[in-house]
Amino acid sequence: MPSYTAPLDDMLFLFEKLRDNKNYNELEKYNEVNLDLVKDILEEAAKINQNLLLPLALAGDENPAKLENGVVRTPPGYKEAYQKYIEDGWISLSCDPKYGGQGMPKTVSAFFDEMLSSTSLSFKLYSELTIGAYNCLLHHASDETKDKYLPKMVEGKWSGTMCLTEPVCGTDLGMLKTKAVEQTDGTFKIFGQKIFITSGDHDLTENIIHLVIARASDSPPGTKGISLFLVPKFIVNEDGSIGARNGISTGSVEHKMGIKGSATCVLNFDEATGYLIGTKNKGLNQMFTMMNLERILVGIQGLGISEIAYQNSLTYAKERKQGKTNNTKSTNGADFIIEHADIRKSLLNMKSIIEGERALCFWLSQQTEVSLNHPDEQVKQEASDYVSLMTPVVKSLFTDLAMEITSDAMQIHGGYGFTKDQGIEQLYRDNRITPIYEGTNSVQAADLVFRKLSNKNGNIIKKFLEMVKSECDSKNEKVRSYSKELNYYLDILHKFTGWIEDKTKIEKDDVSAAANDYLKTLGYVSIGYSWIKILEVSFSDYETNKEFYEDKINTAKFYFDKVLPRAEFHYKSAISGSSNIMNFKFN
Ligand SMILES: Cc1cc2nc3c(=O)[nH]c(=O)nc-3n(C[C@H](O)[C@H](O)[C@H](O)COP(=O)(O)OP(=O)(O)OC[C@H]3O[C@@H](n4cnc5c(N)ncnc54)[C@H](O)[C@@H]3O)c2cc1C
Repeated sequence: MPSYTAPLDDMLFLFEKLRDNKNYNELEKYNEVNLDLVKDILEEAAKINQNLLLPLALAGDENPAKLENGVVRTPPGYKEAYQKYIEDGWISLSCDPKYGGQGMPKTVSAFFDEMLSSTSLSFKLYSELTIGAYNCLLHHASDETKDKYLPKMVEGKWSGTMCLTEPVCGTDLGMLKTKAVEQTDGTFKIFGQKIFITSGDHDLTENIIHLVIARASDSPPGTKGISLFLVPKFIVNEDGSIGARNGISTGSVEHKMGIKGSATCVLNFDEATGYLIGTKNKGLNQMFTMMNLERILVGIQGLGISEIAYQNSLTYAKERKQGKTNNTKSTNGADFIIEHADIRKSLLNMKSIIEGERALCFWLSQQTEVSLNHPDEQVKQEASDYVSLMTPVVKSLFTDLAMEITSDAMQIHGGYGFTKDQGIEQLYRDNRITPIYEGTNSVQAADLVFRKLSNKNGNIIKKFLEMVKSECDSKNEKVRSYSKELNYYLDILHKFTGWIEDKTKIEKDDVSAAANDYLKTLGYVSIGYSWIKILEVSFSDYETNKEFYEDKINTAKFYFDKVLPRAEFHYKSAISGSSNIMNFKFN
């Protein structure tokens, strides 16, 4: 089983030194969320993750969630752990105190999400979807519905799901077949089948609140006719008590490559009672509230899995002896593999990506809070635009890089990485879903190039690039050498953006074929931007913590020398266009 120590030093460094968003710091509701409080929370979070949740990863892999006599059973240990998890209030960390939550900002809860992703992604998913559903209801449900459902969800007694996918409708939700028939009392009867539903059924909670998209009888075809319904597993009585079983049954639990502890269900809705949430035919927009936050969380899943893969690779590389290096000091026997240049490079590759990603995510958490809570509408909108731009990047790049990192971790472990002994292969398998669910990474990339670069408020990417350029214009000579390098890649990104804008008007296939490359270029540059912020502090505060900052400076150097150049490769590959791709005859 892999070991794990929460990277508290790095997390607290970010919270203390990179909480630099003026608009975020103006949010009164977080005035009392200071470093001491966050340190206490994260230390406790580390304990529950390291001691209680980490063993669940293996338990879930060896004893997957299963359907027994119509009831879905979670793996051994999940129930007890979930009970402790909700009793200690972890599920409600970021929820509104009005509904019993602890009101912590995403600048704190994102660290907890990362830890959970490192220790047991399968276990995490049971509460992650609940919080996703909570957020959707918080934004779109009536006060009456919120009062009825949210407190129990925040308490963790009821869980939530997101029911979109159907057998013939995955990416293209406009093709959905699930029907909603309005009743005289204003409720709906839901008919249809949803597949691949995470936590669709399980034995951890008293009730499950499904958020289901369906088409009302009089709605138009396509995405314009989709509405959102709350469909509980058990009907909730007027007084809030649990009533009769609703018309939802579990057809099966999927057998999967990874995250086996998570129950991925086929759900059949047969005359199930559903309650319309928000406006009819606007269901997809409402669902996007949940999906957008979920997408960032999926990016964090990739980050968390990368972190535990790195930690175990580092330990193994310090313990395993094989071969001699060019400058070996050993007279007999072999050197530790951490002495070999290629292994060192691989470890630094992981470390520089992970720490850069964590800092970018912290920046994004600040922007997300501003986009949700700032009193000034214009400030709120600008932050919202940045969040919308960066959401597909974080979702896709972090999860793709987690594939690279878990694969490299396996490589560092050699044959022992491929066998089950060390648990490294499980990290690779568990991560493999992250580039697929919540909208595949390719579809995220298309979303970025066709919809996120500009909107009715103007040219978002231009604003973003200008903001990065001005923030990286450091007064510190040492930082400036890195900024100069980043500017080179900002110029490439600028040219790449112009190319995308031009091609969008004349040859959309060129843009579609370049979308993944563009997303990666933007992602690598954005991580570079985060490293500049880290460097700024590292040089200015160097004397206060030499060892920590020396480590940061050298890791940044690796990122700029060895990782950031990938941005240019993606640009060059993309601008060769798509004619060969589109004209190629597959036999
Ligand atoms: C373990 C697991 C958990 C899941 N949890 C949930 C859940 O809780 N709720 C839920 O509703 N769904 C869930 N899903 C479903 C998941 O979100 C979908 O599998 C995913 O969105 C892709 O849909 P699909 O599988 O139908 O693939 P398809 O949409 O058929 O895609 C197949 C391939 O075609 C590509 N493609 C499709 N359309 C385009 C396009 N327009 N442009 C370019 N490429 C395209 C895709 O990128 C992909 O590579 C889960 C799936 C799994 C496996």
